[in-house]
Amino acid sequence: LEVIGGVEPRIADAIRAELADQRQSLKLIASENYASPATLLAMGNWLSDKYAEGTIGRRFYAGCQNVDTVEALAAEHARELFGAAHAYVQPHSGIDANLVAFWAILADRVEAPALKRAQARHVNDLTEADWFALRRELGDQRMLGMSLDAGGHLTHGFRPNISGKMFDQRSYGTDPTTGLVDYDKVAEAAREFRPLVLVAGYSAYPRKVNFRIMREIADSVGATFMVDMAHFAGLVAGKVFTGDFDPVPHAHIVTTTTHKSLRGPRGGMVLCGPELADQVDRGCPMVLGGPLPHVMAAKAVALAEARRPDFADYARRIVDNAQALAEGLLRRGAKLVTGGTDNHLVLIDVTGYGLTGRQAEQALLDSGIVTNRNAVPQDPNGAWYTSGIRIGTPALTTRGLGLADMDATAELIHTVLSQTTAGTGPDGTASKAKYVLDPALADKVSRQATDLLANFP
Ligand code: PLP
Repeated sequence: LEVIGGVEPRIADAIRAELADQRQSLKLIASENYASPATLLAMGNWLSDKYAEGTIGRRFYAGCQNVDTVEALAAEHARELFGAAHAYVQPHSGIDANLVAFWAILADRVEAPALKRAQARHVNDLTEADWFALRRELGDQRMLGMSLDAGGHLTHGFRPNISGKMFDQRSYGTDPTTGLVDYDKVAEAAREFRPLVLVAGYSAYPRKVNFRIMREIADSVGATFMVDMAHFAGLVAGKVFTGDFDPVPHAHIVTTTTHKSLRGPRGGMVLCGPELADQVDRGCPMVLGGPLPHVMAAKAVALAEARRPDFADYARRIVDNAQALAEGLLRRGAKLVTGGTDNHLVLIDVTGYGLTGRQAEQALLDSGIVTNRNAVPQDPNGAWYTSGIRIGTPALTTRGLGLADMDATAELIHTVLSQTTAGTGPDGTASKAKYVLDPALADKVSRQATDLLANFP
């Protein structure tokens, strides 16, 4: 920080402030974690200076021998950890990993001369006419994925993301009474819609998904089955999700982020069998910019950590903690989507407290509790204000908090939400954003949160 501060002190200050925030607040964002010092250090070094378009042993630049070593090791750890035939560790994020997978599936499945021409050449050599032909050939392929309000992700064919422009998308939701995926309904939607790609995986669904059944559904309509395990990759790595709940043996292709429950650097990864490996390896330069060798090094370190026996213990504690948090909230009267959890996240329906997700998120933040608002199934408040708060345990579990601390956390969350009331706009009408919370109570909870964390420096 001294070196950084010598160049741009405001950046050094921002880093210090971020560390202080992460130390002092209850970090309950389900997609965040604390990467290890080894992982962080692997990212801050000279590997960052190297260009390495292409893949191991087939680069568009000279002098990539050390990047080859790094990428090969990261891929080896990924294959061994997840039992996958092939691993591609270049994607810079989860969205990029999905983009690589979509292109690989299209290239594999669609009889498209323009696409084959594009795959055979460097992306810079494609002409305008090539791109138009490509658009015509690929324009009406279909994707069936989980709806956003049921917990699916934007990249699973929704309009604010390019996947919604690449694919004609239809969604499956969850059962309105149980909140669970109804596999018969998924099968029915697949029979009607006949998608090229069936996507499973989620950002805000607090339950396991049976990937064996989903694969059977995909096979019954000839779809490629893709699982985006970004959120629960750590639970797969730690062997909490096994058998029907482990996506790797069931899916044709699996994508993930490396920074959520897996606890690595920010980044993405694709796992697949030999059939799709060649296409996946064309990710850079087809849809990705040059790889980030320093981040691949950090992925290798984090994956090596996840192969150690204590990671399985960590993954089990994530779920135990999430269940303890859910029970603590339920006991205090909170309304939870699906009535609980069997993974790392809990979705509180805050309409039970008379609040929108946005009001609840801000009131919790005022009280030193960092969460994010999230839609609930059939959300009456839409995707911006929402009616839910998503909380997850990967980060606090890394810090060492256990079952009793989860009960204390549930008490803090419930105290804030039950003491917050919806506010009104300037004209006296109900507001979805304004709220009223006694600042003294917010301060008190914030101090209690800091005290709780002081036991886990
Ligand atoms: N896929 C899922 C299921 C996610 O939850 C997320 C992130 O929230 C992503 C993909 C995108 O990951 P990234 O933010 O690294 O692009």
